[in-house]
Amino acid sequence: MADTVKGAKGVKAAKAPGATGVAEPKAAKPFPKKQLQHFEKRLLDERRRVVKELGHHGETFGPNGEAADGDSGAYSFHMADQGTDAMEREKAFLFASQEGRFLWHIDQALRRLYKHPETFGRCHQCGDMIAFERLDALPHARYCIACKQREEDAKKG
Ligand SMILES: [Zn+2]
Repeated sequence: MADTVKGAKGVKAAKAPGATGVAEPKAAKPFPKKQLQHFEKRLLDERRRVVKELGHHGETFGPNGEAADGDSGAYSFHMADQGTDAMEREKAFLFASQEGRFLWHIDQALRRLYKHPETFGRCHQCGDMIAFERLDALPHARYCIACKQREEDAKKG
């Protein structure tokens, strides 16, 4: 009944380096910086295209409307850090149109890319890395092809 060890050298709230509460499968290797920069460029390209179609944001990236090479600091991301209220309002506004929804998803992807580059490209469903080819074609994709397929199948019934 001697309860000696408890508390003495107890585990200090499991603070392994890198373990931020997210289960990270070992197989899921983050994309190298070069590829992340490629996705960033793809997202910014798509974003510019949609913003043009929407015509209401009028944002430019850098002096000539071009993002500086590999410099994400040049990117003005006005609604990223204004808190949830502003985000929700923006969302409600954007979701009124299909282009707006697309823009929202692109912004979400950019946010993920900037804030958590180490997990960008990871499937939100199964945690595997999404194939480069898929992200190249669809840089805001959140699901790997297998999970997406499953979702589509489920929809069809
Ligand atoms: Zn998946």
